[in-house]
Amino acid sequence: MRTANKAGRLHLITSTGAVDVATASGGRFDADPQKVYARWEEFRAWEQQAELPGGQPFEPAELGSPAPAPAQLVAVGLNYHDHAAETGVTVPEELLTVFGKFTSSISGPHTTVGLPRGNVDWEAELAVVIGTTASHVTEAEAAQHIAGYTAAQDLTERIMQMSGPVPQFGLAKSFCGFTPLGPWLVTPDEIPDPGDLRLTCALNGEIVQDGNTRDLVLPVPVLLARLSQVITLHPGDVILTGTPAGVGWGRKPPRYLAPGDILTTHIDHIGTLTQRFTRTDTAQEAATD
Ligand code: ZN
Repeated sequence: MRTANKAGRLHLITSTGAVDVATASGGRFDADPQKVYARWEEFRAWEQQAELPGGQPFEPAELGSPAPAPAQLVAVGLNYHDHAAETGVTVPEELLTVFGKFTSSISGPHTTVGLPRGNVDWEAELAVVIGTTASHVTEAEAAQHIAGYTAAQDLTERIMQMSGPVPQFGLAKSFCGFTPLGPWLVTPDEIPDPGDLRLTCALNGEIVQDGNTRDLVLPVPVLLARLSQVITLHPGDVILTGTPAGVGWGRKPPRYLAPGDILTTHIDHIGTLTQRFTRTDTAQEAATD
């Protein structure tokens, strides 16, 4: 099953297009795409036996985030061996490098992002959306708490991230539009193996990241089990699972996003995000100072 946020309303994506869930369910399920996760198992059971009308065609630009307002937006750093190597860090596998992103940074899959001053970098990531509350779960239990998967960008301004007395991940990764998610949520039964998903990121058509989730330091079930020992994961929470090698600051010389750039993020069996970058008004003012 695929669910999407089309024009702010929950839709099922079928072979013919998008079906409005609130309408098709006779009002049983709310139109708000975030609210469905609180009733995920009930929703899945309904969807499996529902007689759906034909889907309506839609434009990619109509899509918003499949989880637009999670209670928690958790992100994991240094979770691919090759990315850790390019940042010069040795990863102790018993530790988690975890930070929160602010949920106001979430956007839909196809957007224009205003670049703040600084060095804005890309990080293509697999995102997990939680379907049922997970607290102190084992690796074996973790899969049953997953609603589905979506693609993510963890855009980051590197100067703010690294130049303080201690690194400041959360703020530097939470500028407006810095967490595009989408293009829809794909349930686990539609993904042959979440531990073998190719993810790529292209800058103006040139592939800059080409990774696979088989290279995750902590695969998704391990990640959820470890996180749930500390925080309770709620339905609709989003977890970004880390990025593979090829980010801008790991390059020699480093390379960052510029106005006019187009960033294309793709995960097999899930779909594609497209971000176009412009200057923000404040950056324009600064440039003409
Ligand atoms: Zn990241």
